[in-house]
Amino acid sequence: MSARQITLEVLRYRPESESEPVFQSYSVPCQKEWVVLDALNYVKDNLDRTLSFRWSCHMAVCGSCGMVINDNPMLSCKAFLRDLPDHIRVEPLQNFPIERDLMVSLDDFMDKLKSVKPYLIPKQPTADPDGTYKQSSAQLKKFKPFAMCINCMACYSVCPQYGLNDGFAGPAALALAHRYNADSRDQGRRAREDVVASNTGIWECTFVGACSEVCPKNVDPAAAIQQTKIASTVDYFKDLLMPSGRKIAHPEGDTT
Ligand code: SF4
Repeated sequence: MSARQITLEVLRYRPESESEPVFQSYSVPCQKEWVVLDALNYVKDNLDRTLSFRWSCHMAVCGSCGMVINDNPMLSCKAFLRDLPDHIRVEPLQNFPIERDLMVSLDDFMDKLKSVKPYLIPKQPTADPDGTYKQSSAQLKKFKPFAMCINCMACYSVCPQYGLNDGFAGPAALALAHRYNADSRDQGRRAREDVVASNTGIWECTFVGACSEVCPKNVDPAAAIQQTKIASTVDYFKDLLMPSGRKIAHPEGDTT
């Protein structure tokens, strides 16, 4: 059986040329099990070696092949050609500066991730002789969905607030903050609140929910942000009632 022929229309941008991004079309013979990433690699290997895009694992784990495919941000390694028409338009993620072709700048996203202190901040060193911080499967369950983020940036590409205000920490960073705040081993919620509860944090989110719709790992950043809003509101009223020493409630019932 002959290979299916598709047209891949790819946005090209070369910063050294100083010209605006333009679309370039390639005719690609495809195998039925291919994904868009395979078609891009065919172009790179056989038609045009100058085409630039990021990818690594080809199994929806590394998060590096996020791009906009027929107007939807997705992982190109999960975008099966059998689910797409014969004409496929591929563009870089929106809301980020384009570095070259399908590659966007990661700088702002990385700064946002770092700003929420995305690591365990234990209250005190563990007393466990093997140096580990143990938790039960029930405790793990409370934050595990929010720990599945692969930093693909698809949620930023559809977030209207991030598009309007690039000071906004954004869906993945706030979901990551919630992931650590909800971890029974962590006591860093107060250390994160300067960013998380600021006017570039959770209160900037208008709950459009597009972030959760496009997330390829079902992280549900919109839910994480709304849960953090509730916790932050509780903190606010505790501040009013106990101005001399607010206690932050931990999901496990502990306080700090
Ligand atoms: S939350 Fe989902 S869409 Fe956003 S960066 Fe993480 S994996 Fe990608």
